[in-house]
Amino acid sequence: MKPKIAPFENLVEAFNALPGVGRKSAIRLAYHLVMENNYAGVKLAHAIEEGVGAIRTCTRCHNMSEDELCTVCADPGRDRTKLCIVQSAKDILSIEESGQYDGIYYVVSRLEDMDESHLQAATAGVREVIFAFPPSIATDTMILYIEEKLSHADLLFTRIAQGVPTGVELENVDMLSLGRALEARVRV
Ligand SMILES: [Zn+2]
Repeated sequence: MKPKIAPFENLVEAFNALPGVGRKSAIRLAYHLVMENNYAGVKLAHAIEEGVGAIRTCTRCHNMSEDELCTVCADPGRDRTKLCIVQSAKDILSIEESGQYDGIYYVVSRLEDMDESHLQAATAGVREVIFAFPPSIATDTMILYIEEKLSHADLLFTRIAQGVPTGVELENVDMLSLGRALEARVRV
């Protein structure tokens, strides 16, 4: 049996459990932190503890937030007539990075978890609902469903242009194309 140093192996396993980190990379990262850069290790541990403990979801739009309302919802400069519906708060990060959108957001991860009255409340004062979903059969179904639930209100429904390739997650679309897709949105 190979001799193993338990605390080192635990660290390797923790890295290996993260998305996109294979065992080789996990070993490299763990070795770096315990043997080459202790300071970075302590800093990382602190940042993880702080991040995991302090971040929750915005009560209004389900974005990542430190407070009850996220920085977008709390910003008086945002255009509240535009509501962009995304599948994940991660997508808000991508859209904000593109710098092409000044409206507000709403996260709907799964239709099963969608709180209809909460979504209705979020659309108060909204004139355009933009679906920033990557194109797929599943997201088409989501769009139809949400549109029907909001059909009583006089809303314009649009979706980001099909420049975003099918089956690709928004976080993997480069900023320029995401910005263009948002600008060139089309009526649903
Ligand atoms: Zn929010």
